Order: sequence, then structure tokens, then C-alpha cells
Amino acid sequence: MSGVRTTCAYCGVGCGVIATPDGQGGALIEGDKKHPANFGRLCTKGTTLGETIDLTGRLLTPMIGGVRAGWDEATSLVARKFQDAIEKYGPDSVAFYVSGQLLTEDYYVANKLMKGFIGSGNIDTNSRLCMASSVAGHKRAFGTDTVPGTYDDLENADLIVLVGSNLAWCHPVLHQRIMAAKDSRGTKIVNIDPRRTATSDMADLHLGVAPGGDTALFNGLLNAIVQAGAVDRDYVDAHVNGFADAVAAASAFDWAHVAAQTGIDQQTLEQFSELFVTTKKVVTVYSQGVNQAVDGSDKVNAIINCHLATGRIGKRGTGPFSVTGQPNAMGGREVGGLANMLAVHLDIEDAQHRDAVQDFWDAPRIATHAGLKAVDLFEACANGKIKALWVMCTNPAVSMPKAGHVADAIANVDFVAVSEIEAQTDTTLLADVLLPALGWGEKDGTVTNSERRISRQRAFLPAPGEEQADWKIICDVAAKMGWSDAFDFKNAAQIFDEYAKMTYLSVGMGKDLDLTALSGMAEHRYEAMSPVQWPVQVDRQDTRYFADGGFFTADSKARMLPISGQNHVPRETGFVFNTGRVRDHWHTMTRTARAATLSRHMAEPYLEIHPKDASELELENASLARVSSSFGDVDLRVLVSDRITQGQVFAPIHWTSEFASNGRVDKLVAPVVDPVSGQPATKSSIVQIRAFDMGWYGFAVGVAEPQSKADYWVKAKLDKGWQIELAERREPSDMEAYMRKVLGIQDGDCLSYVDQKSGHTRLAIVKDGQVVGALFGAAEPVALSRSFVTSALGGEDYANLLAGRSGQDQPDAGRILCNCFNVGINTIVDAIETGKVHSLDDIGKTLQAGSNCGSCRPELAALLTQLKPAIAAQ
Ligand code: SF4
Repeated sequence: MSGVRTTCAYCGVGCGVIATPDGQGGALIEGDKKHPANFGRLCTKGTTLGETIDLTGRLLTPMIGGVRAGWDEATSLVARKFQDAIEKYGPDSVAFYVSGQLLTEDYYVANKLMKGFIGSGNIDTNSRLCMASSVAGHKRAFGTDTVPGTYDDLENADLIVLVGSNLAWCHPVLHQRIMAAKDSRGTKIVNIDPRRTATSDMADLHLGVAPGGDTALFNGLLNAIVQAGAVDRDYVDAHVNGFADAVAAASAFDWAHVAAQTGIDQQTLEQFSELFVTTKKVVTVYSQGVNQAVDGSDKVNAIINCHLATGRIGKRGTGPFSVTGQPNAMGGREVGGLANMLAVHLDIEDAQHRDAVQDFWDAPRIATHAGLKAVDLFEACANGKIKALWVMCTNPAVSMPKAGHVADAIANVDFVAVSEIEAQTDTTLLADVLLPALGWGEKDGTVTNSERRISRQRAFLPAPGEEQADWKIICDVAAKMGWSDAFDFKNAAQIFDEYAKMTYLSVGMGKDLDLTALSGMAEHRYEAMSPVQWPVQVDRQDTRYFADGGFFTADSKARMLPISGQNHVPRETGFVFNTGRVRDHWHTMTRTARAATLSRHMAEPYLEIHPKDASELELENASLARVSSSFGDVDLRVLVSDRITQGQVFAPIHWTSEFASNGRVDKLVAPVVDPVSGQPATKSSIVQIRAFDMGWYGFAVGVAEPQSKADYWVKAKLDKGWQIELAERREPSDMEAYMRKVLGIQDGDCLSYVDQKSGHTRLAIVKDGQVVGALFGAAEPVALSRSFVTSALGGEDYANLLAGRSGQDQPDAGRILCNCFNVGINTIVDAIETGKVHSLDDIGKTLQAGSNCGSCRPELAALLTQLKPAIAAQ
């Protein structure tokens, strides 16, 4: 089979991928040079997609109560349990919780079944956690959920303001496009983020805003725009309502006041303002740091206000730009996958819209009101109001706020079905019925990226077992509930066709979403469909919106909103708990943990904390901390860093019970939501921190997957086996027995060495002359090159391994920064310090690092910035 054009499974950039099956179940992956989202670029996650499609841990058959079942039996049971609940308790007693990882066609039929046939609004999605505040902000300002700009604007702006977005790690290819534009046209970059991130390192100006200070900052900017006479009066007069009220609300925000609210010095604020006011082509990119707040919608509108006031919207190189986290968050928005929306951007609260949708579907009923949004939905599970729940393609027992409580809430529901590709996740463990779904590379349909571009995801691998497409599973259940005619789709193309046709309703109701030109496509044309951006209109040259007004409101004018600018972050005693992503893992790691390459960068969850806070709490770097809130506790490795300010801490969201003893950080997050969008405020819970003192620490590697009940453990896949970090309250009495139990290796010879000076213990299991396992233990966190130890696994050099040092021919590369060429931090630092490299280009030419996918370039740049002054001073 030759290369198949498809789309990356991860973030909302929506990169085009060419996948060529290798005939052994895997695939070679390359970037699609013809895809307008990435023009051939891929980040490290995209590049390693081929490593994530092996069958380890796959759910291959339907399961009922943990026992293998047939499809007919499983879908009949789901249909019957939902029908029973509906008959007994009404349509609002059932719910779907779906995912931005679903394809648009899957999303479309799930929404159609719930809102049109079951007659409830109770379908919500993990996209609620991602960008619901942007949807709300767009609807308030523009009258509909429209992203005005395109990626091309990022390359044609003279100033890019990145707010609450670690773009370098979370949307790496967009970051690369911006950096390429910076190189060629000198684009200025401002990064607004409470932390100094890899994105900040590449910016011209970093504004370390205090948590919750964004609305004050953008109110201050609006005030400065007015004071500087930079308002585009013609645009405002012709196309904007609410200008006077918004400006009045912002008028109290002079820079002195904003400085007090944001913790940013006045000079830096004025520098930012000067840049914004004097640069005509400005794009403001924002993502989860803006959305995941109790005032996320207000933050979005405060940003949009500044663009509307200056008329910098819809023209090339300008505009507010929300980038979505997930590959198909936008597709879900289009087909009404949120509890408060109808399909094709119509409004659930509007009777005319509801009638139109019901008519189009020829549905027996239609949801008459918004359903339960994610946090409320799981609360309704906890208090017994939801009797039947169907979770599709997501892992809420890990990812929801108050995640421990959510797991209990799911367990409390009478009947739970879960559609998944993985046999075991924190959520599948709670299911009555497991429905095996096709995974990336096997399924077929479309996704829409952050710039409204629809791309095909195509199958290039057969189903490994009895898996079925999500849309097919949903349609089978719908048919068994009595609605076979309305769900009689033979393939994804037929569903897409119905959806595209349906967008005539959107156009007819004065909304933006127009795919009518794509309806009536023959199936072979759908199969061959190239990426296409909506609105799809043959006579329309530019897909941007609003350069000349034309907003989707009754008077076609945009609305500027008065924003209070109040800081809503709780003032309780404790630390503000910020959560987010790391560069190489994704969501709850069900896919990325399969790729050894992706764990090289970060193999353990951590707590980033300022040196002064760490010192006060008597936390050393690499020690363990117990972090707790009213909702639970987690145990994390301490990372002392001045990249975070005092009073706040950061932890990544990815680790689950499968990979860490107690690392599900969303357990700590308060279920507090933005009242407008319903999006949880996942970046500002209050936590307490204390040392999690252990009597013994260990690090082990082995050829088999380790099993541990240690007081602390975190495991990660390696190329040749597994690694595991360990800690125990008391030192194990029989170290060999302990090691063999953890590593699951009973045969082979055990060699051991105790360093009398340090008291460190080193053990290796050697079988047929090769190291098949090793354990390193100490009374303090094990200080040892992990890359040296992991590379020794499967080799013969147990002598150096027991000596705790690298072999002559195997210098210690340190933590891997460049996954593409396996280049470690020590190698790069050495090259900089010895003067072998002076720039990113030098590093690429000499060590290859950063010269392929580019994901590590921000970290390489940070090392250059950090080390060069010290070298110059020598
Ligand atoms: Fe995939 Fe990376 Fe592109 Fe996002 S930026 S779509 S993760 S290749």
C-alpha cells in the first residue's frame, strides 16, 4: 500500500500526514507538504504517530461485565438500558459524554441521536474543558461561534500576542510557522503567561501576568488604545455596538492600576501597549490559559474588544485567534456536540432553530433546553439523576475536575457504556459494557482544525479485532432503539453529506457555517476530498470574516462588552495550582505512553515550584511532594524553578493510575466553572503542599512491564523495556527479592554492589550475558543518569552499570531534548560550553538536534540564552 493522506490525531493545528503502512502493523509517517496547515512540518508527537499504533492494550471485542460478548448482544443491551431509563425517568435521565477526538461524522450522529431522537440536551464533550469559553466569547461578540482568521494571518502579522498559550509545546507546528515568519519578516512576539515557558523563551517580551490578571490587562490595553487615539472610528461606527460601555468599564484601568492587578511593572505594560497601539497588523492568539478560568468568557471578550476597537479583524495579518486544543474540537462545535448548542451553529434556546432542526431530521422530538454541561453532568451522575451514561473516546475519571469524585460518580450510575480503543483506562474500569472503537489509522471521516479547515482522516490499517467505527456503533444502538431509518448510514460519506446539506439551515437562519457546496458529493469525491476551509462558497476568494463587518447578529454589528476586570482567582491560603500539557504527551497518555520516544522528554509528573517557596517548605529539587486540596491529593516530583513565580505551582495533566501511583492532578481541581461557558477553571485551584518524605528511593529498568505497589511509583516505556521510579517509606529488607518482584523477572543471575561511601545500592539481573533488569537505590532521590541506565538495558556492560558510570564509548547524553535524533541535554550543553555551537543553526548542523520536527528548538534556544552569557564572562 502506498502512502495515505490523513490528519494527525492530536492537536487543533490539524497537520496533514502521509502514512505508509510497513506491512507489520505499523506505518512510516511523514508530513504532508500539500496540507495547508503544516506544509510538511510535523512536531515530535506527529512524527512518532507510527509508534503508537501497536496493539498492546487494545480493546478488541465488546465486553459485558468483563466478559467477551458479541456486537449484537452489546448494542442491544445499551439500547435496552437507555430505553428503560428514558421510559422510567424521562429523556434527561440519560447522557452522552463525548470527545474532541471523535470524527465529525461520529459527533454528528451522537448529537442527532441525543437531541433529536432521545430528546435531551444531555450530550457534552471534553471540549467543554478546552475551549467552551471561546465559543461563548465568540457568540457574545460576533453572534455566532466564528473564528475570524486563518493560519496565514500568523505569517502576515507584524505583532503576535500569545495569551495563556504555551504554543511551542501545545501547538508546535503553528509555533514553527510563527518563528519562520519572525525570521523572514521580523514579527514581534509578546507572550502573556504567569509562567515562563518554552514559548516565552522565543518571545521578544514576556509578561508574567499574575493568575487571573488577564481581564485587567486587556481592559488596560483598551484604555490605552483610546488614550492613544488608536481607535478605528470608521470601523467602530459602522460595525460595532457597545463601544462606549466597554470603554467606560476600561477607563479605570490606567497602567498603575493594571500593574497592581497583574504584578507586571508599569514600564513593561507601556512597552506592550506601545507595540500593540503602533502595529497595525496584530494577531492575538489565545488558548487554555484564557479559556480555563472562572471568567474565561470575559477574558475572550476583553481580547476581542481590543481588536474590534482598532478594526483589526478579518484583514490579512490581524484578528483575535482562539486555537483549539483537540484535533476535532471545532468539528464538534459545528455539529452541536456541546450541551447548549444545536447542530450547524443553531441555538437550542431558539424555538425557530429547534423546529428547523427537528424538521430536517424528521425527528420525533427535539431537546427543548440546554443539557447538562460536563461538571453538572457528572454531578448529576453522583446524585443519581443520570441512570444511563455513554462515554465515548475520552477518560473523564482522569481529566475532569475533582477527578476522584467523578470516578465515584460514574461508578454510581446504574448503567455505563464506554466506547474506547483501550481495554484499560481509569474510565473503562467503571463500565458495564465496553464497545471497541476503531483507532487512528483505522477510522475514516473528517476533522476541522482551528482555522475552520476540514480535512479527511483516512484508514490505512485494517481493524485489528472486532472494532467498529464510532458512528456505526451509535447508529446500531439508535436502530435498536427504533430509529433505524434516521440512522441508516452505510458509511461516513453519507453522514457527511447529510451534515453538509443541513448547513443550509445555518445559512437560512443568518449564521456562518456554510458547507452546502460540499453536499451531494459522490462518495469517491468524499474519499478524495482535499482539505477545505469553510465557508465553502465558489464565489468567495477570502475565507476570513468581518473585515467589512457582516456580523451574525440582528443588526449585523459586533458587540463590545463591558468587562469588570476583577481578579477572580481565590484568595485562600495556599498555592495557585496551574495545570497544563508537556511537550510530548497528550491528554491521558492512552496513545502517547505507547511510544518510548515520547517519554524520553518527560517520564514523570512533576510540581514546578519557585525556589523561595520550595525552601520555605523544605523541598529539595527531585524530592517528592504531596499536593492536596479539598478534593484529594497527589504525589509529584519537585522541580524547583524560577520560571514560575512565588505563590503558584504548575503540574502536567497527563498521568493516570496506569502509569503513576498517585499522579492524577485533576483530582485536586475544584469543580468551579465560568458561569457563561460552563468551562471549568482548571488553572487556579488552591492547593496545600508538604514534603512527601520517603525512607528509600529507587530507579529500575527491566525488559518486562513492571508491577509495583510501592508508596510512590511512575513507569514509562523504553525502546527495549520499561523504567520505573520508586520510593518507599522504609527501605526494602531484601533488595533482590524486591527488584525481582517489581520487574517481574525471576530468572537470571543477580549481581549487586553497595557503594560503602554513599550507601547506594546497585543491582543488575544478567541473563545470557545481557542486562535484563537493574535497580538503583538510595536514602535520597536517586541521582543517576537515566539515559545511561536505560541505554544499558539489553546490553552487556553490567560492570559499568554497577559502577554507576557511563562506559567510555557511551557518554551520558542526559535527558533527551531532541527526539528525532536522540540528542540529550548534556550533549547540547557540552557543545555550547566548548564553543562548538553558537546558534540554533549550528546545533542543527553539528548535532542535528532541532533540524527535523523542530519541537525542541525553544528549549535549545533557552539553553543558548542561558549559557552564552556565562561563557562570555569566563
Ligand atoms: Fe499533530 Fe504536532 Fe501538528 Fe499538532 S502540531 S497536529 S500534534 S503534528
